[in-house]
Amino acid sequence: MNNRNKAVDKLNTYKGISASSGIVIGRAYVLDRELFVVPKRPVAVDDLENEMQRFKLAVEDSLSEMTDIKEQIMEELEKDVPLMIFNAHLEILRDPSIVQEVSNLIEANKCNAEWALKLLLERYRNRFSRIKDSYARERVNDIEQTLARIQRNLMRDATNTAVPADLDTSIILVAHDLTPSDTLQLDTGKVIGIATDVGGKTSHAGIIAASMDIPAVVGLKTLSKDIKTGESVIVDGNNGMVILKPTSSQFVEYNSKRQKYLYFDQALQANKHLEAKTLDGKKISVLANIESSHDLVHLKEHGAEGVGLYRTEYLYINRNNLPDEEKQFDDYKRVATTLSPNPAIIRTFDLGGDKLTAYMNSDTNEPNPALGLRAIRFCLRYVDLFKTQLRAVLRASAFGSLKIMYPLITDVQELKDANAILESCKEELRLKGHKFNNTIEVGIMIETPSAVMIAPELAKHCSFFSIGTNDLIQYTMAIDRVNEKVAYLYQPLSPAIIRMLDACIKAADNAGIAVSVCGKMAGDPTYALLLIGLGNVQQLSMDVHSIPKIKQFIRTISLEKARKIASTVRLLGSTKEVKNYMFSQVEESLVEGISSDLLEDSS
Ligand code: PEP
Ligand code: MG
Repeated sequence: MNNRNKAVDKLNTYKGISASSGIVIGRAYVLDRELFVVPKRPVAVDDLENEMQRFKLAVEDSLSEMTDIKEQIMEELEKDVPLMIFNAHLEILRDPSIVQEVSNLIEANKCNAEWALKLLLERYRNRFSRIKDSYARERVNDIEQTLARIQRNLMRDATNTAVPADLDTSIILVAHDLTPSDTLQLDTGKVIGIATDVGGKTSHAGIIAASMDIPAVVGLKTLSKDIKTGESVIVDGNNGMVILKPTSSQFVEYNSKRQKYLYFDQALQANKHLEAKTLDGKKISVLANIESSHDLVHLKEHGAEGVGLYRTEYLYINRNNLPDEEKQFDDYKRVATTLSPNPAIIRTFDLGGDKLTAYMNSDTNEPNPALGLRAIRFCLRYVDLFKTQLRAVLRASAFGSLKIMYPLITDVQELKDANAILESCKEELRLKGHKFNNTIEVGIMIETPSAVMIAPELAKHCSFFSIGTNDLIQYTMAIDRVNEKVAYLYQPLSPAIIRMLDACIKAADNAGIAVSVCGKMAGDPTYALLLIGLGNVQQLSMDVHSIPKIKQFIRTISLEKARKIASTVRLLGSTKEVKNYMFSQVEESLVEGISSDLLEDSS
């Protein structure tokens, strides 16, 4: 078997991909989506309509699945087909009373559709159990199977979570997969580590785990099948390793590694508020990436100098309705006032790809979501939704230093269109007498090869670039960033990536606009050294927990040395050469206060 299909190298050691650093030792809780009990969730009165709509869509999906299955079986078996079975299921799905009864239950109980469906099933079971004729009584099985299909379709919805809310002890969550929505709803007091079979270095579940400071390893292939709830497990997020049922010597070894890690991590805390200035005086602003305005409380305690990326799409994930202008305004205003005078870059919705919401149900049947209706494309299609967000950001800009940033730009026209919509929002606000910052800075994410190639032209229509290396690597290397099978190609030190970064940083410099980096590369010392050496990068933005480490690291290097390193790297033609060279340089640069124990596994 190809080695890439295996994750176990020693008897009990799984090698995966590090998604969030730190080491934890604990008991596993294995999440089995198929067996998962139906969650009960209260739903606000305003959201009841959306919940009913979500149920209708799940019924429609089930109906088309069932029709496909029936057609397929008819084709395969030609005749002698037991059509009544399918017809019975189809009839149940077409019966309007299912939608009506579930809608009534949603309304009466102010609950989610899954729970209402569960109640309906109980009601049917009750009714059927009173039927005397055994043949008729057993017809409840057809109903059960049909409702189970609808339930599966509902549970697949991104607004649903499979993570139990009522854990009474700390656990390491092991799952085949975790959606961004699952991860967002984790109880951080209880979930101390995460291990998943699938996923890549920059899967959104990993990004959220990092912002919650939960060590996470992804891409462990078969772990969730090999492990049982209650078994002890070690998650080493620094090296992307998971050890199942550790031996006593492994336990001792990792306990001491963990203590060492915590010791160095604590040592960094002492200097976290100091500026990040290289030995020869180059100041780099170190900012935080956030997924929610609730993350703001952690910024100060980690020494963040503002927000370099607010992933606002998380306002939509886990909700059934779109937050209106007022709700968004309140949220962005909170960001602006809390951080003032420090800046915050509000990225407009990057929905699509693996970040889905109930709103997108009709647009989610795309064969290639990462190449589909995502980010700025989504906003330019749903202009009202885009305008609502832009008006909210503009109004909040009167209360602090906010900037706007568009994701996934690939063409000058997209940028011009987005800017024209922004201008129309300003006009609307003027007419209504709202205050806003008329000269609010507008920037774009550089995260596609096309944006790099036309960076000089794009620079004419915006005032800053922020390089999104997570997607830039995905789209340059043609690998799905959440697919562990191709994660070996996720190589930030590939000459292809370095040339992309170099071209983009140069283009910004030539145009006289600012350039920063907000992808995961920015939070890793090896890559940060290279990024600083490549040109005039003024800002690095990362998950809050990486900030003290990167600030300390910057204080130990000189710009001159970083430039020399970058000049050598530009001449290297293979990933292997670049990696060998960069790792040797970082080892040399690791002086006072930063230990190699704090380095993630960048291999
Ligand atoms: C990126 O692509 O590097 C980025 C920062 O954006 P996201 O991870 O949210 O796609
Ligand atoms: Mg991106």
